[in-house]
Amino acid sequence: MKKSLVLLFLIALSQAVPAQKRKSDKLVIITLDGYRWKELFRGADSAYLFGSEFTSQDSAGRLKKYWDKDINKRRKKLMPFFWNTIAKEGAIFGNRDLGNYVNVKNRYWFSYPGYNEMFTGYPDTLVNSNNYPPNPNINVLEFINKQPGYEQQVAAFTSWNAFNRILNKERCGFPVTAGYANLTTPNLTETQKLLNEQQHYLPKIFGGAERPDAVTFFMAKEYLKNSHPKVLQLSFIDTDAFGHQGKYDFYLDAAHYNDAMIADIWKYIQSDPFYKDQTTLFIAVDHGRGDDKTWRNHSAAVPHSDEIWFAVIGPDTKPLGEIKTQGQLFQYQYAKTWAGFLGFDFTSKNPIGEKIEGILGR
Ligand SMILES: [Zn+2]
Repeated sequence: MKKSLVLLFLIALSQAVPAQKRKSDKLVIITLDGYRWKELFRGADSAYLFGSEFTSQDSAGRLKKYWDKDINKRRKKLMPFFWNTIAKEGAIFGNRDLGNYVNVKNRYWFSYPGYNEMFTGYPDTLVNSNNYPPNPNINVLEFINKQPGYEQQVAAFTSWNAFNRILNKERCGFPVTAGYANLTTPNLTETQKLLNEQQHYLPKIFGGAERPDAVTFFMAKEYLKNSHPKVLQLSFIDTDAFGHQGKYDFYLDAAHYNDAMIADIWKYIQSDPFYKDQTTLFIAVDHGRGDDKTWRNHSAAVPHSDEIWFAVIGPDTKPLGEIKTQGQLFQYQYAKTWAGFLGFDFTSKNPIGEKIEGILGR
């Protein structure tokens, strides 16, 4: 399809449902870290899954779990929630095999610049390190947290402790529980107390800055159940951590379990009257990874690590499924899009990416 036709198509979609008919006033954002579009859309890669260079777990077991000659069956084995549910009821962008492109706009192709771009809408060239200090740019979550009806209605749970700086915990005004930090909001449940305590007995397999996703996931889910925030961010790390370690079988396991955790969150959302049919779930990734032998790494020096994808499901999202039309979207468009799901227009003193109009309009 020509670009002009795609544009007309997207404009038509965006006009199909007027803003006042929006059903969604709640938002859950989940990020995977450095998970390639290739595994999402093509499933496990035989170049790494077969043989022992990048794997250590039982070979018959991992092939049974993730391998099929048929690409559709293979990707469904790896990410069943994406392909059984989101592909039918939501939309999945970024299959470059079909000409549908999503890229990061920043020039660095690693995590802090990526999450800064995603949450502030501004691919700031000054944000050039994972050790960058507390973020001067205003993020969309703190913007939402100041809107009428959304005060004290936002929370973030992240496996990586750099989110304390990325979201500017000291300034942002909502709880950020990042890395191995305990949840410190009032009136903790017994489960929350247990999760706080248990995490400190885990071997620090990714170092002290990165908490395994299973802990972060249950902390986020427990908070969702008990505190009912209108907006929740849940950011995983396992895929990137195992990627850097060159453990492809563990990288696949991480993606497979992230998929199951996302399915579990969605099932919970659709079972709780506070969230059911009023919540948009948006899933994104901060950067890609390299190809061939460079799959372990990502940076501006590693081709393809700017290639990303995103998925969305919710009451206002048109069930477009896997997007098969040619197009180009960018990570810096997410922030304004997320605010748009709640009926807000996120602006900032920085020039930020335009809202993605085409996904609204069920
Ligand atoms: Zn990384």
